[in-house]
Formats: sequence, structure tokens, C-alpha cells
Amino acid sequence: MTADTGEPFLLTPGPLTTSRETKQAMLRDWGSRDAAFIQINREVRDRLVALARGGDAFTCVPVQGSGTFAVEAMIATFLPRDGKLLILINGAYGHRIAKICDYLARDYVTYETAEDTPPDPTKVDAQLRDDKSITHVVIIHCETTSGILNPVADIATVVAQHGRRFLVDSMSAFGALEIDVAALPCDALCASSNKCIEGAPGMGFVICRKDSLAAAKGNAHSLSLDLEDQWSAMEKNAQWRFTPPTHVVAAFHQALAEHAAEGGVAGRGGRYRRNCEILVSGMEELGFKPLLPASLQAPIIVTFHMPADPGFDFQVFYDRLAEQGYVIYPGKLTVADSFRIGCIGRLDETVMRGALDAIRDTLAEMNVSDRGPVAA
Ligand SMILES: *Cc1c(COP(=O)(O)O)cnc(C)c1O
Repeated sequence: MTADTGEPFLLTPGPLTTSRETKQAMLRDWGSRDAAFIQINREVRDRLVALARGGDAFTCVPVQGSGTFAVEAMIATFLPRDGKLLILINGAYGHRIAKICDYLARDYVTYETAEDTPPDPTKVDAQLRDDKSITHVVIIHCETTSGILNPVADIATVVAQHGRRFLVDSMSAFGALEIDVAALPCDALCASSNKCIEGAPGMGFVICRKDSLAAAKGNAHSLSLDLEDQWSAMEKNAQWRFTPPTHVVAAFHQALAEHAAEGGVAGRGGRYRRNCEILVSGMEELGFKPLLPASLQAPIIVTFHMPADPGFDFQVFYDRLAEQGYVIYPGKLTVADSFRIGCIGRLDETVMRGALDAIRDTLAEMNVSDRGPVAA
């Protein structure tokens, strides 16, 4: 259990384990028009643009809700009603964008690869050459379904060569993996408060080009998800249009200060990379097989094949680990039966080694000796 709260560690894709100071930042009731809250909100937005290396051409528009609200707001705002989106899919979050387009009645096409296969830039190049009606392309930075790192920069180059617009769902990567929105280039990138920045859940944000955002006026089908309207209102009076998640913003402000103190993206990503290395090598020593080769694995969450041993019961494994203070996550792959263990959140080497010890003991109790996948 965590030393300071007695709560279990969340080795999941989010919500995640946060610091005590981040939780304590929520012990105050802020008025939405309070000058100090407005200042905190301003600082959060500015810091997020800086983390994305956005510069003056970019702004950050926050939106109430979970990460999906920010994804939907990004698509609804940036994709014109007569636009057409190419969705690069290799997992559940790519499929979710297609579903969003169905709801929004926006035109789209997909390029789907298997969950353990990144999209091929030459295929995207051909698809954009063959279909001139595609106006925008969207990619998932780290597809959290498997933990795969997608080739965002290579795809961005192809999209720019064709003069199309690029959108990025960087939900589970932002803050831990370097991204430079101006250099890519991209029109908009979305993420949320409760992943690699280690804040509380409850708000998403979209970092985007101001000129593209201004040009997107009138695109959105939804008042609450209209980022252009949220932005122009916030620029006028510095306030959120509708009740802001004040406690979540205050916690996020604290979490961003801790992110900076850890050395920003390099520091945060470095800790997650060590967590991931310890996890993967420890699990391999125990006989488990990760889904992805190291070259495709993002240091965010790792998918392991379900052991072949007939004595292995995932629910029992999960429950026993949770009793020992380590919450893992089921898999949602179609290519293989699997489970996932996260490396993100307020977790360090000691926690990862503790989790491995608990896994070793639990397997011994369960008498599971064959930890490799079922032979294909
Ligand atoms: C977490 C996540 C989301 C958003 O999920 P919510 O459950 O709505 O917060 C979107 N895309 C990716 C890649 C994610 O990892």
C-alpha cells in the first residue's frame, strides 16, 4: 500500500496514483470568479502550451469531463461539417474516434492495422494521394489498448506533404513523451488531467493552433464541446463558460508544478522508462511474455499474454494482487488473450519491484508454473 495513504497503487491506464500534495490541493472550495483561481487556470493553460512547445501560435483550451470529452470536442471543433477524417486505428481508442464520427455524422475513412502493428507512413501517403477529399488525419500517440507507440512524427510529415490537417490523441503519452506541436506540425493535440501529468480526473484539454481554432468557428454540433466558443469566452473574461471543475484545476496546477520539479517531460518520461524496464525484465524472468517488442513499446502500459497454465485464473490473480496493494488491468485486445500493467502515475522502482514480488508470491500460491502464452 502507498506509504502515506494506505491506498493501493494503481498500475492502470488511469485514473492513477497521485501525490499527497496533489490530493491536498483539492481541500479548498474555489469560487469560479476568484482572482486566485483565475490565475491558477491561466498558469495551467500556459504551462500546457509550453510542454507541447507550442509558442505564441498555439493556445490551450480546457474542457470539463474525461479524456473522451476532449477527443470528441477536438473532432467536433476542428473537422468541418463537410470535412473528411482519415482515422489511423490500431486499438480501442482509434475505434472510439470512428464511433465519435458516427455520432457527429462526420465523414471518415479508416486505415486499420493489427493492435501490435503501427501504421505505415507509405500507406498513409498512398491513401492521401488516392483520396483528395480527406481533409484531416488523426492518430493515437500511444494506443493504450496495447501500449504501442505510434510513429506520430513520420505520419505528420506525410500529412503535411499532402497539405492536409493533422490531429493527435496524445492522452496517455502527453507529459511523458516529447512532442513538439509546432514542428510536427499539427493543428490540435488532446490529453487529460489524470494521465502522465498525474492530476485528478475531471478535465481534458486541447492544445491547438489559434488560427485553426478561429477558423473552426461554427463547426461544432454541440455547445458544451465547442472549443472555439470555450476559447473565445475564456479569452474575454478569463473564466470557463460553465461550472469549472475547480478542485481538479487546482490539483492539476499542483501536479504540473511537480512535473516541472521532476525535470519536465524528460524527467517524467525517464522515471516511467525505468518503471517499464524493471517491469518487463521482471515479468520475463517470471516467464511471462510481453505482446510488443521493446522497439514498439511505449513506457506507459505493458500488455502481457495470459499464461497458458490451466491453473491461471485472471480474476483470482487480480484479486490477490489488489489485496496486496497493486491494482492491475484486464486486456482488451482482439489479437490475443492478455492483461495489462501500467508504469505511469506516482510509482517508482520500489513500487514496481514490490508489484513483481507480489506477482511471484501469488503465482506460487496459485501453483502456476507455465507463464508463457498458449502456443500458437
Ligand atoms: C485514456 C485515453 C482516452 C480517454 O479516456 P477517458 O476514459 O475518457 O478518460 C483517450 N485516448 C487514449 C489513447 C487514452 O489512453
